Amino acid sequence: MSDKPVVIDAIINGEKYKAEKQEPRENPAHPDKVVGYAPVNTKEDTIKAIDAANDAFASWRKSALDERIERMRKAIQTIKDKTPEIAQLLSREHGKPVYDSEGEIGVSLAWMEFACDNVKDVLSSEINEHDGGGKTIIARDAIGVVSAISPWNYPISLSTIKIAPALLAGNTMVLKPSPLAPLAVSKVAEIIADEFPPGVLNLVHGEADVGVELTSNEKVAKIAFTGGTETAKDIMKSAADTIKNMTLELGGNDAAVVLDDFDVDDEEAMHRLVISNFLTAGQICMIAKRIYVDRKIYDKFVEKYIEAANKWIRVGDPFDENVTIGAVNNKKQTEVVQDLVDDAERKGAEVIKLGKVLDQDLYDKGYFMQPTVVLGADYKDPIVVEEQFGPTVPILPFDDDEHALELANDSIYGLTSSVWGKEEHAVKIARRIQAGTTMINTAAVQGLDVRFPFGGVKQSGIGREYGKEGLLAYIETHVINLPDTLSLPYIPEGGESD
Ligand code: NAD
Repeated sequence: MSDKPVVIDAIINGEKYKAEKQEPRENPAHPDKVVGYAPVNTKEDTIKAIDAANDAFASWRKSALDERIERMRKAIQTIKDKTPEIAQLLSREHGKPVYDSEGEIGVSLAWMEFACDNVKDVLSSEINEHDGGGKTIIARDAIGVVSAISPWNYPISLSTIKIAPALLAGNTMVLKPSPLAPLAVSKVAEIIADEFPPGVLNLVHGEADVGVELTSNEKVAKIAFTGGTETAKDIMKSAADTIKNMTLELGGNDAAVVLDDFDVDDEEAMHRLVISNFLTAGQICMIAKRIYVDRKIYDKFVEKYIEAANKWIRVGDPFDENVTIGAVNNKKQTEVVQDLVDDAERKGAEVIKLGKVLDQDLYDKGYFMQPTVVLGADYKDPIVVEEQFGPTVPILPFDDDEHALELANDSIYGLTSSVWGKEEHAVKIARRIQAGTTMINTAAVQGLDVRFPFGGVKQSGIGREYGKEGLLAYIETHVINLPDTLSLPYIPEGGESD
């Protein structure tokens, strides 16, 4: 792929829309290089996009379901054909290795296909017997204009997770990706928008001012947001005046609980755990961000964990096939992670570097971080209680299973979690962890299946994406009652009787 900067425009009502201002997106592995330019849209641009979506909704909601599915399948095929070039662009703007970007597009396609295969089932109306005789129809309709706001860490999958079910159900959308990875997702959005009538999928770029319009405008019926918990609080306030339907997928601080019967010599399981901590340089909502290990096996576990991590971790250029971990997406994120590690070290924790850096010169210039494991931190230290969202993980001992549960549940978050050990024992513990998903002997995206619902409890979110629940999230139910009026008690005309 050429290094020529890619220029992205907004899409409003089926047309490319030139913004007055463009923002460069740097390459995190080579910060002196610009990967491309994304527009900085204004509030006025955003209103135009919302109006276009609102106008298109009137006819799109009435379109035939077969037509919607056919259009989506065409888009899926084009994205499939273009996967290598989209993945390369994603790696250049994001910093993650190409295998990782291809994996993200693969998950997106699997979900879009699932949505096409299942939307008919989910949308079909039901006719039931009414208990007063007669019948009740449960009709399933589109909601209206959806504002979709996505983060930088998995920009394509966390946008298509919203686009596919929303459009298939007859909604229209305005998508706003993150300015920290705006390019590859815009290519995907362009492909999808091209297959649909003007105004059905619109694309704008920008920061909080665009976000505020998208979440407060009275023509927007639903918000589908993935990002930080603090941002979600602002969004809820912004949407409060017009009471919008919402799906919120937020931060996490996922615990991995390693029980006394976990086999520390099981190299494959240990390898899976390492990947659960460091894939995408730890920048995944559902990565295992704190490991609690039964004190009886703690020392042996730490030794074997470090051995496994050293085998897998190769930090370097996202385009080097030997690299497993690329750059961190942006400078600010490296600082957030480094501050947490430094704070733990200052308080007496031991910080151990993992794996190898393949090219020291590149490492020094780009936003790279060699992964670390932090031993001896306090249970209440920021490195343990905050979401690091980067390549570091604390390992802490626990006394018994009750203690492990207390530690795992002591969090404002509840996205995913994992339990490592003999299956029956692990499932018993898993049932008592407060999380949207708990995985046994695996974690993070390795344990993800788009056919089943995903989402968080507590401050990790509201609602579910993926699975049939992820389709239902874009559907409103309308109940039409047709009771047999002859069999009902007499109600006098004019309402209340005296
Ligand atoms: P962020 O909250 O900073 O930004 C997310 C999006 O919101 C961006 O597009 C941003 O421009 C936009 N935004 C910012 N302020 C806004 C406002 N006031 N109104 C409307 N939109 C606004 O998050 P991020 O740094 O891009 O992503 C990292 C966070 O996302 C982490 O906390 C991570 O755990 C979370 N995340 C959650 C999931 C999940 O499925 N639960 C998945 C991925 C990431």
